[in-house]
Amino acid sequence: MATVYLDGNFLDDSEAKVSIHDRGFLFGDAVYEVVPVYRGNPFRLARHLDRLRESLAAVAIDCPLGDGEWATIIARLLAEAHGHEYSVYIQVTRGVGVGRDATRTQGLRPTVLVSISPVSIDRTLLASGIRAALLEDIRWHHCRIKATALLGNVLLRREALQRGAAEALLIRDGELTEGSSSNVFAVLDGVLRTAPPDERILRGITREVIIELACACGIDVREQAVSAAQLASVQELFICSSVREVVPVIQIDANAVGDARPGPVTRRIMQEFAALKARFKGDS
Ligand code: PMP
Repeated sequence: MATVYLDGNFLDDSEAKVSIHDRGFLFGDAVYEVVPVYRGNPFRLARHLDRLRESLAAVAIDCPLGDGEWATIIARLLAEAHGHEYSVYIQVTRGVGVGRDATRTQGLRPTVLVSISPVSIDRTLLASGIRAALLEDIRWHHCRIKATALLGNVLLRREALQRGAAEALLIRDGELTEGSSSNVFAVLDGVLRTAPPDERILRGITREVIIELACACGIDVREQAVSAAQLASVQELFICSSVREVVPVIQIDANAVGDARPGPVTRRIMQEFAALKARFKGDS
């Protein structure tokens, strides 16, 4: 049992109900945000709210709440939570429509759901690294929008799991763009490379943090995708996201990445991320 916020009310999740006419349910006409919480405080909340506004603007849904209101709702949900590491989930749909008429959107009031859930990161995976599967990106062309319509991502992740891998790395136009639920960094010829922030990727907040950290410690970072052909020469590779943080990838399909161990750049970024997190939590 957990408390959630739904359209102005704080309710037990078993009592929170959304209409079958809600456009989020019918058409996936909705966007979302996921914010990590460390020791009770949302990390980079302002940036997550910026991205939420960008996603909403891109699909022409008015942002229903101001930054202060989002922060108050989140604080209230977290005040009732026990434990330290959570993620906050925000979902905004275009609202409850008129039957299945996709075109009638005038005057709808967005449906707003905010919930929290505990996160536990598998630290053994972080130390050893994961296997990934390389798959052609089957998603739509506006991956910059954090849309709840995640069918493509779900199918790709399923395919990866069926192949014994923990993440799908996606190829579009012959280039490595992102993971099915993560951004990707690769070390090639001593340069840390990640795909540029265009429509083919979600502009991950963790990606942004990693670029900052890498620049601050003198690592040469370039927002330039690695091609599928270059993958065989990549020395290191890792994925990142708000809920998984930084995870080394040591094998892609049957091929080892580098010497199949988390490499020095990856380990440095993991250390820097852990230090940033510790500072945020007030541990150091
Ligand atoms: N790309 C995709 C497709 C994702 O689903 C996610 C996770 N939401 C990310 C990248 C990483 O974004 P963030 O660091 O903001 O969690």
